[in-house]
Amino acid sequence: MRIAIISDIHSNLSALKAVLEKISRVGCDQIICLGDIVGYGPYPNECIELLKESCQLTLMGNHDHAVIGLTSTESFNIYAKMAIDWTSAELMPSAKEYLESLPFTHREPNELYVHATPCKPEGWNYLLSTYDAQDNLKCFDQQICFVGHSHVPVIFEQQPDEDCKIIRHTSAILGDKNRYVINVGSVGQPRDGKPSAVFGMYDSDSREFELLRQEYDVSETQKAMMDQDLPYFLVDRLSRGQ
Ligand code: ZN
Repeated sequence: MRIAIISDIHSNLSALKAVLEKISRVGCDQIICLGDIVGYGPYPNECIELLKESCQLTLMGNHDHAVIGLTSTESFNIYAKMAIDWTSAELMPSAKEYLESLPFTHREPNELYVHATPCKPEGWNYLLSTYDAQDNLKCFDQQICFVGHSHVPVIFEQQPDEDCKIIRHTSAILGDKNRYVINVGSVGQPRDGKPSAVFGMYDSDSREFELLRQEYDVSETQKAMMDQDLPYFLVDRLSRGQ
């Protein structure tokens, strides 16, 4: 089975459309979204509608949780908080209801899916280092955990009886005796120095995982953000992928 795994859309419709088109070109059996559909960007309702049509499963992200008032924005930076307030006022009641229905995790026999961390999905902690990955590998039994949240794509691998390490390639055949935490990066606000959208493709038969990138019309999203008076800091970072 080929599974496309997308995350952190952040109301960036142009990026989401481009990624979904690429997914339909390369083909897959299932699309899973790891959350943060909204926040930062200008098209929250449209992104929710499109994801409802396209994804077989969508999880709760911290921005989704904040926009429906269930996570405090105290720990958010001022620009993220401004975007949450704008989004909350903009969302249709049906879109809010949809966000309220999202689960924190999804478990398959061999894979776990979560927005932030497997140890505490609703704590919204960041999993950034091999130390974090090693700690979190103790919190689930599956071979692979797919995460988003940091917007930085990375593959952590733990071989039996060894310390966790980072695989520095964009694709890998996952060894069946090893365990993994894989961050699929962000569709709508990449932060790894490249502005193109990024997502993951996992083939559970060949055990191949690949990070795919897709260019999209960044300026279209930026113009729509400026039209809505969203903070310029958020507009500008899309060009830099930061
Ligand atoms: Zn995010």
